[in-house]
Amino acid sequence: MSHAHLSPHDAARSIALRLREAGHIAYFAGGCVRDQLLGIEPADFDVATSAKPAEITALFKGAKGVGESFGVMLVRTGGVVVEVATFRADGPYTDSRRPDSVRFATPEEDAHRRDFTVNGLFMDPASGEVIDFVGGRADVAARVLRAIGSPHERIREDRLRMLRAARFAARFALEIEPQTVDAIRAHASELAGVSRERIGIEIRKIVEHPRRVHGAELVESLGLDAAVFAEPHTTGQLARLSAIEHGRPVGALLAAWLRDRGERGGGTGRWTEALMLSNRESSDLETTLGLVAWMLDGFDGSPIADRRLTLASPLTPSALDIVEVEAPERARSISEWMAPYAAAPGGLAPARWVNGGDLIAAGLRPGPAMGAILDRVYRAQLEGQVGDAPAALAQAVEWGRNGS
Ligand code: ATP
Ligand code: MG
Repeated sequence: MSHAHLSPHDAARSIALRLREAGHIAYFAGGCVRDQLLGIEPADFDVATSAKPAEITALFKGAKGVGESFGVMLVRTGGVVVEVATFRADGPYTDSRRPDSVRFATPEEDAHRRDFTVNGLFMDPASGEVIDFVGGRADVAARVLRAIGSPHERIREDRLRMLRAARFAARFALEIEPQTVDAIRAHASELAGVSRERIGIEIRKIVEHPRRVHGAELVESLGLDAAVFAEPHTTGQLARLSAIEHGRPVGALLAAWLRDRGERGGGTGRWTEALMLSNRESSDLETTLGLVAWMLDGFDGSPIADRRLTLASPLTPSALDIVEVEAPERARSISEWMAPYAAAPGGLAPARWVNGGDLIAAGLRPGPAMGAILDRVYRAQLEGQVGDAPAALAQAVEWGRNGS
């Protein structure tokens, strides 16, 4: 029986309590415990349990195993899907990404396979008591990000943890503990061996977060940037990345960071490969950089029609944020120039007053010449050389009859 519309918390709680009634141990685990201690509402609640997958399936009909993840089941209740994972321990790692073997284990062993102390906590779903095998509660209170166990070993097991450290420290404003910092610096270049896909996912999460500048600064100051972007290490002010408004597309955010790193419009192909950007992200990156360059060098010499069509891009606000940092006067004058057009009906790139059907109805023959006339009359519309739709049509028909 499933209850409609439970909160993520209540759904996970009811699953955990059901597991307990059946005689198993069941806790909230990982990120949701950390978030609650930090006073943040968790987006989802994961359950860790002593129940084996077959026992989970027996209790929750429809529970499904998660692809390649050992012992992780998805249980649906009250319209919420909850991850329910059997306590496990990881065997030795030889490929720096996945343990060679995994076995079911105690709660304490499960806590010790996790990456950072703040991520290694459990909570009793009934009493709210925190179960802490790794010193995570003290680190949350002191706002410290610390590897569980030997930082060198934990990084050697999975090098992506270096980038996760930067992401979590930025996201929760945590100080990375000195030995963890030293280990990351020592292993930074080995991040290059991690799959491009996993690196790209972490970098997206870093730049899309409101505390992106802190995250990006850590990526650079820890020396992870060279492996992340497949280019030489550099650090510096991230004024452009800081200026981009929250909620802008990943490609625009990356454009800001790329320019902060001193590139001048190059590098997009390399970043696309290094971060496995989607076609959309990659084209946003390129378009934003192109717009910035055009605003700085091309805007002045462009006719009104070209300015309007170029500035109609959804990436213009992001490009303006970047130009605002590099050449504030220029950003202001472009904003002022475009404001009346943007505010007018139809905006910067309004619908055409004249289309092919209008010209055919007026007796002109379709073909390349007609295409050129349509372009020309649309430009005249954008330039304000024709005052309204009837005038535009009359002008287009006249050009058509004159064969010009
Ligand atoms: P988020 O809110 O970003 O999902 P999270 O802490 O839930 O934060 P996940 O990546 O979803 O992060 O992982 C869930 C938990 O699994 C983590 O809290 C951590 O305990 C453990 N974990 C995840 N990835 C790793 C890793 N690469 N190495 C060790 N432990 C990991
Ligand atoms: Mg999570």
